Amino acid sequence: MSHSLTQSLTTPLMGAIHRPDSDRPLPLEPVTCCVCGSDDAEPLAVGEDFEYRTSPDTFLAVQCRCCGLVYLNPRPAMTTLDRIYPLDYHAFDFSAERYGLIYRVRQRLEAKRLLSACQRLGPGARLLDVGCGDGFHLKLLRQFGRSDWQLEGVDMSDRAVALGRQQGLKLHQGTIQAVDLPAHQYDLAFMIATLEHVDDPAEVIQAVRRLLKPGGELVIVTDNTDTWDFRLFGHRHWGGYHFPRHWNLFNANTVGRLAMETDLEVVKIQTIVSPVNWVYSIHNYLVDWNAASWLVKQFSLESTLSLGFFTLFDQVFQAFGHGALLRVTLRRPFEN
Ligand SMILES: [Zn+2]
Repeated sequence: MSHSLTQSLTTPLMGAIHRPDSDRPLPLEPVTCCVCGSDDAEPLAVGEDFEYRTSPDTFLAVQCRCCGLVYLNPRPAMTTLDRIYPLDYHAFDFSAERYGLIYRVRQRLEAKRLLSACQRLGPGARLLDVGCGDGFHLKLLRQFGRSDWQLEGVDMSDRAVALGRQQGLKLHQGTIQAVDLPAHQYDLAFMIATLEHVDDPAEVIQAVRRLLKPGGELVIVTDNTDTWDFRLFGHRHWGGYHFPRHWNLFNANTVGRLAMETDLEVVKIQTIVSPVNWVYSIHNYLVDWNAASWLVKQFSLESTLSLGFFTLFDQVFQAFGHGALLRVTLRRPFEN
């Protein structure tokens, strides 16, 4: 499955929304490391759904002793997706109306980043956004990219897909493994804030690989565990856990190893700046300590000040190669 979202953020208002199932525990399933297959892992963090309060459970994040992958174990069963992604989930509502200035700033920044991955694309190139949500990134490519590009997206959420289609986007509903798309046709695929949500990252990457032309590229953006925000907050409050929705969390080593197992060449692994995990680590810390709601509100997707400050702050870490997000460029090899 590939579930959509645009950022690991929500608003403090979410806590006020009534959830009929929120006092019922989720069915959980044990898993092994999705990178190396080992079940030898050490406990790392215990946390709760600080952002949406979809269940009363506490969740355990562990780190694989063999490869270093951080993952949720046990994790919610696949039958719980409707519960852990409630209707007010932010990925379905990242609109200009609601987020104003933040939306416009982020739009500019994201457009620049997307286009930097598109430099080698020629006329008529075919692009696919996997886990596209309602099409935030596709709309940017439509607005700022070449007019002859063919843009498509895939997302599991019928609601997000319906929203994107209303805006004229060509979106396919379903998992990347199940949707009926032509093999070897796409020049470039994106998976932005998607890999950490899926149940089988290798299978999802292989499904994307099949769609790429030889020489076609896949650009993955995902949370980075090799960071100072993870070191400081990784025992409980780290925003990147997004309990219980982020199932696998990578660093440069583990994502590189995953790529090799899916027969893709690693073109580049870099880090990029993001304020999100900083802001949400502090948000979760404050929520956990029952801080006043006016203070909690200063650390949300709607807080221009904290997003701005931590964007600058994360640039310091980015300068040393430890920006909050990983950006991984993979290529389908040319075959004989
Ligand atoms: Zn492992």
